[in-house]
Amino acid sequence: MKYCPHCGAEIADDVRFCPTCGKETVIVVNNQDPQFDPQDIADNKMLAMLGYLTMGVLPMIGCRNSAFAMHHVNQALWIFIGSLLCGLVCIIPILGWIVGAIGSIFLLVCEIIGIIRALKGSGAYLPFIKGLPVIIK
Ligand SMILES: [Zn+2]
Repeated sequence: MKYCPHCGAEIADDVRFCPTCGKETVIVVNNQDPQFDPQDIADNKMLAMLGYLTMGVLPMIGCRNSAFAMHHVNQALWIFIGSLLCGLVCIIPILGWIVGAIGSIFLLVCEIIGIIRALKGSGAYLPFIKGLPVIIK
């Protein structure tokens, strides 16, 4: 059972038009995340995942032409840059340590999310990546 996105009426799963309001029930998700070729994902998701563990080096060597892998390489590189910054703020006593520690934990979580998404073939952006420049095209 699902619900009509327009009027909220309960409708059967296989119904394309809502019997109550008559509008189309297929929800068009306003998804800003990039879409990738399924074949590209199937071929390169392992290397894309390894990109998170190798600062992007393995996919850069193994599948430089894969848009999916390069998407994840970018995220891996931003995580790497972020962890450098977290290391840098640790020069400042106490406040820097706190910020650095919180930042490092956040980045670690992002890295794990990225690894899981790469393996699942998802090109969804990590929480902080959107709006950051693309490093590797
Ligand atoms: Zn409806």
